[in-house]
Amino acid sequence: MKKKINIAIDGHSACGKSTVARMLASSLGYLYIDSGAMYRAVALFALEQGLAKEKSIDAPGLVARLHEIDVLLKRNTDGSICTFLNGEDVEESIRTMRVSSVVSPVSAIPEVRTKLVELQRAMGKEKGVVMDGRDIGTVVFPSAELKVFLTANIAERGRRRWVELESKGVHMTMNEVVQNLSDRDLIDSTRKVSPLRQSEDAILVDNSSMDALQTYQYIKKMAKVLKGEDSETGA
Ligand code: C5P
Repeated sequence: MKKKINIAIDGHSACGKSTVARMLASSLGYLYIDSGAMYRAVALFALEQGLAKEKSIDAPGLVARLHEIDVLLKRNTDGSICTFLNGEDVEESIRTMRVSSVVSPVSAIPEVRTKLVELQRAMGKEKGVVMDGRDIGTVVFPSAELKVFLTANIAERGRRRWVELESKGVHMTMNEVVQNLSDRDLIDSTRKVSPLRQSEDAILVDNSSMDALQTYQYIKKMAKVLKGEDSETGA
């Protein structure tokens, strides 16, 4: 019998979590939720309000104004997702390096996590969600039916992110890109609250030598088995 499940995809920065999660959600008819976009929106708010500069964050100042932040993920007609911060489409501005350089310290603030985790849990209540992030399998949906911990070596992740940035007209050196990824990985995995770690019941997938399609096909097979479908009946 087919059943709706929740799928948690956690892992390091730039290993293709969102691409694979989006592909999975679209093929299963599930809702895709990019939890990183929500943290990025809060980081953008902090930058815009002068509460974050470079890597220094005014944590008490941001916590005091959390109630002013409304983060919404809206689905476009083509199925893509758009992030809104207080009614404004910020999908592009949250992907900039300016945001990437403050998002991890912002995400380490416990009150920020409490607010966003609550929203994320509400979105997954009815099941049928693919959510990617850092703490989805460990904290947000500890009873998700399928948990994947995705990673790849840092050189490959750097290369992928560099190509993605170049395609958007953002020119950075490979060293700068790799440095940002390693900085974020370090802060994400050593923070006190909900650090990035592989849940004991998560399946580790190293996709250093797989492309997005191969990674998607590999995870999709596992999802079909868990949904009670025959794993041989289609991609
Ligand atoms: O997924 P993405 O790389 O866009 O996430 C940006 C940042 O948001 C991560 O580096 C991490 O600091 C934070 N994040 C988090 N928990 C999540 C998702 C993202 O702390 N569930």
